[in-house]
Amino acid sequence: MSDDVRDVVIIGSGPAGLTAALYTARANLHPLVIEGLQPGGQLTITTMVENWPGHKDGVMGPQLMADMRAQAEHFGTAFMSGLVERVDLSQRPFTLTLDGGQVIRSRTLIVATGASAKLLGLPSEMKLMGRGVSTCATCDGFFFRNRPVAIVGGGDTAIEEALYLSKLASHVTVIHRRDTLRASKIMQDKAFANPKISFRWNTEVEEIVADERGDVNGARLRDTKTGVVDTLAVDGVFVAIGHTPNTALFKGQLDMDEGGYLVTTGVRTNVAGVFAAGDVQDPVYRQAITSAGAGCMAAIDAERWLELGDAEYHHGAAATASA
Ligand code: NDP
Repeated sequence: MSDDVRDVVIIGSGPAGLTAALYTARANLHPLVIEGLQPGGQLTITTMVENWPGHKDGVMGPQLMADMRAQAEHFGTAFMSGLVERVDLSQRPFTLTLDGGQVIRSRTLIVATGASAKLLGLPSEMKLMGRGVSTCATCDGFFFRNRPVAIVGGGDTAIEEALYLSKLASHVTVIHRRDTLRASKIMQDKAFANPKISFRWNTEVEEIVADERGDVNGARLRDTKTGVVDTLAVDGVFVAIGHTPNTALFKGQLDMDEGGYLVTTGVRTNVAGVFAAGDVQDPVYRQAITSAGAGCMAAIDAERWLELGDAEYHHGAAATASA
């Protein structure tokens, strides 16, 4: 590694980024992780993780991420807080410019920027964020003890959050735009059996309303079948309608699908030397364990690419892919 050009820079510090860091650090590549807006990623805003192998009684999300970070650091990963504002992938070494103006150059780049919660796009939503509107039940549920809340969405996240909130709130209303849930059967069964959870089917949120102090006190709902509008009295509205990959930074430089996910072959992007791992390139599985697996793959590929050079690497990768 020369003084000013790094071998590996990893953007993002969730399971994908930290696993890539662990592997590249152990390969003596002295990786640098730029931690981003939410160091540790989405698992830092969750509670118990029950599907991370090896923890039969579960592990707390923030603890798991702190352990992953410590492990990566132990093997020589450097960390930098801050956001990458610009990247130039048109020539190598690649150039990254941070929000503080600092410029970093690297031979390879591993993109592990993850995904962020989607919003409904209502004018009230942003204004009332933190005043009753939230995208994270495990972060904010505590504030709604013994108060009525609504959850918007019909996927696993919405139902998981509804179940979590049912332990705190006085009542939880799930507002879903269709009349069937997308969530897994086991989650649905739990929610249907929970007396503190009710459902508003075929319903969209038109607006979130607030009292004179500016705190949420209701949601204006429209039945999509009948067009009837009414206001549900709730103190909190949790939006759980999925996630958007954090790829704006790479627009015009890395190939993306219509949802904004980076298009990869394995973990290779369309730019040689740039790899992507985790929620940023995975619209299907989106699990901590699959992200970590992809982070491992990106690290191994980056190491191979540095060692073999582009032509040899592609020859090898093509051979592996067709094996
Ligand atoms: P999903 O994309 O699975 O579900 C999003 C939900 O929000 C859908 O019901 C969708 O409605 C609804 N929705 C989307 N956009 C809007 C909108 N503009 N207005 C109103 N409703 C909207 O996202 P999740 O975050 O729930 O899950 C993502 C992935 O993570 C999935 O693969 C899921 O299985 C997984 N996951 C697994 C968990 C577990 O196993 N414990 C926990 C949480 C997530 P519609 O159904 O009509 O499209």
